[in-house]
Amino acid sequence: MTSTTTLKGDRFDRQLFESVLKRRFFFTEAFEIYRLSPNFKGDNRGLFDYGPPGCALQANIVDTWRKHFVLEENMLEVDCTVITPETVLQTSGHVDKFADWMCKDPIKGDYLRADHLVENVLQARLARGTRGLVKDSPKLDQTTIDKYNDILAKIDSYDGDGLTDLIQRHDIRNPENNNLVLPPVPFNLMFRSTIGPSAAAPVYLRPETAQGQFLNFKKLLDYNQGAMPFASASIGKSYRNEISPRTGLLRVREFVLAEIEHYVDPKKKQHPRFGEVSTLELPLLDRDTQLSGQTTPRTVSIADAVAAKTIDNETLGYFLGRIFLFLLRLGADRSKIRFRQHLANEIAHYATDCWDAELLTSYGWIECVGCADRSAYDLTVHSAYTGTPLVVKGTLTEPITVEKWEGVLDKKRLGPLFKKDFKTIESALYALDQLALEQLAAKLEETGSVTLKTPPLSDHSTSVQLSNELLSISKITRLQTTHEYTPNVIEPSFGIGRILYCLLEHVYWNRPDDPARAVLSLPSPLAPTKVLIAPLSTHPPLLHLAQQLSARLRRLGIANVIDASSASIGKRYARNDELGTLLGVTVDFESLRDGSVTLRERDGMVQVRGTEEEVVRVIRGLLVEGGEGERGGETWEGVVRRLGVFGSKE
Ligand code: AMP
Repeated sequence: MTSTTTLKGDRFDRQLFESVLKRRFFFTEAFEIYRLSPNFKGDNRGLFDYGPPGCALQANIVDTWRKHFVLEENMLEVDCTVITPETVLQTSGHVDKFADWMCKDPIKGDYLRADHLVENVLQARLARGTRGLVKDSPKLDQTTIDKYNDILAKIDSYDGDGLTDLIQRHDIRNPENNNLVLPPVPFNLMFRSTIGPSAAAPVYLRPETAQGQFLNFKKLLDYNQGAMPFASASIGKSYRNEISPRTGLLRVREFVLAEIEHYVDPKKKQHPRFGEVSTLELPLLDRDTQLSGQTTPRTVSIADAVAAKTIDNETLGYFLGRIFLFLLRLGADRSKIRFRQHLANEIAHYATDCWDAELLTSYGWIECVGCADRSAYDLTVHSAYTGTPLVVKGTLTEPITVEKWEGVLDKKRLGPLFKKDFKTIESALYALDQLALEQLAAKLEETGSVTLKTPPLSDHSTSVQLSNELLSISKITRLQTTHEYTPNVIEPSFGIGRILYCLLEHVYWNRPDDPARAVLSLPSPLAPTKVLIAPLSTHPPLLHLAQQLSARLRRLGIANVIDASSASIGKRYARNDELGTLLGVTVDFESLRDGSVTLRERDGMVQVRGTEEEVVRVIRGLLVEGGEGERGGETWEGVVRRLGVFGSKE
């Protein structure tokens, strides 16, 4: 466990923290009663259910995400299917490449993710300062310590051969039993199935929402009336068959992803709103720093990082800034956020730059948001396979004269011959680049016919033979007023469950006078319940008053609960502090006489008293959202100044 602190700077005790989340039913392992039954043969690892506060918190994070990104920038939200044909994911490269390296313990039969295995073993050796796993072995010398730290700083950059070498060279074994492990092999992380009763067509559960967005690019561009740049967005479940999920909500097999695909002209990667974030200072752990074995980020303004090309371009810098502001808006601890750049080996081959927003937790630094420049890769491959041009036509400021190879098909003769395949053949010809057209022209000239590769046609063939009577290719000169390009895509990708868990660690603390009393200082938009209403007793007129107040708050859209249990008011408050409930209203016998109620704030436990009218006004002022992260004009300090402190803290 990484040593970290609570919100108030005390030592973080994960066991205590997790007991709070469990007690208050934020989430639980899925199918638990089956897993506990002696007859259960399945595997529920990496599968979790959210309870009521977990659900509300997740919904509030997603709601904040929508406001911060989708609403703020008029992003075009789509909701695409999870079930995805194999061909799509073959084209995107996921079938071949969406894999992690896996080792097997041949004796015990355990499967271990190779990079995590190396990481866990080296970290354990460093922590104990001893060599190997045997007790009382000699202390590590400085060279070994430096070597281990260097490997750990770059652990994400090792491929299969690199990991095999590390495992052999450093005698890495299964930490459970000290068994040797077999060399790592790739394991594809996608869940496979088939569609329909014939089971003929293979499908996968999507591992990300991105592909659905790319496939709708043409429609989205039309919907946006051809205007560029623009972004699409999607929120939904994604599925990854993780090799060995052991870290609760941080590594699961089914999770909510919220993704943005921002489409931009590759020659104009400036962002119109860059100025709004350019002076923000971000903690950046760039590639060079990591390669030098360091783990301390540098604090750099986004403008400077883009100017120095540490961050590849303005649009990427803009989104890193927006992600930082989003995490702060959720209540993440500023000192526990960093942006780590992907190393050359770790980055997807098509991506030009990639940064992860990481949050510090008791499990170490956790990647919560990935932000990559995916170049034109996805749109290009889907376009090439389907023959559908996924391009933007822009107007040139100055017309230019261009010489271009152009191919023309004899539609009159080919149309009736190929019927509905004609469009596919035509698109395949249009998708060819200049070099390919020039080569085809030479071949046509030389032999009188050429073979044109196509996507699968009705008869399953993937090419057609065309004679120079059916196809002509020539070089023409044109005055060009428009240009056509495949947009590049900047993709911020948010794992909502990871953010939720890390945030809970960040806002957790214990009352100094009673460490068993925990508080979750969630900001008001995130608190699952905003107001607790606690009648002093179950006396019917008191209950009636509580119900009236509850209905009134409900009408204002303020989530509230009545706790009329027999527990003391203090106990009811303590329970709600653990749920992150922001405010508590106590209704007592005095309330029946003069209509006044007590209002208590979660973090400081200070109470004020006012008429129901006044208190509702205060609650509204504190909770109803104004601008970015601002409440509706009230602060708790202001309320206390105006109404005065009532009684003592509990
Ligand atoms: P990636 O596409 O791998 O960059 O993942 C995008 C985001 O999804 C990451 O930043 C994480 O927040 C989240 N994520 C990825 N894998 C998992 C997982 N197994 N469990 C929970 N969240 C995940």
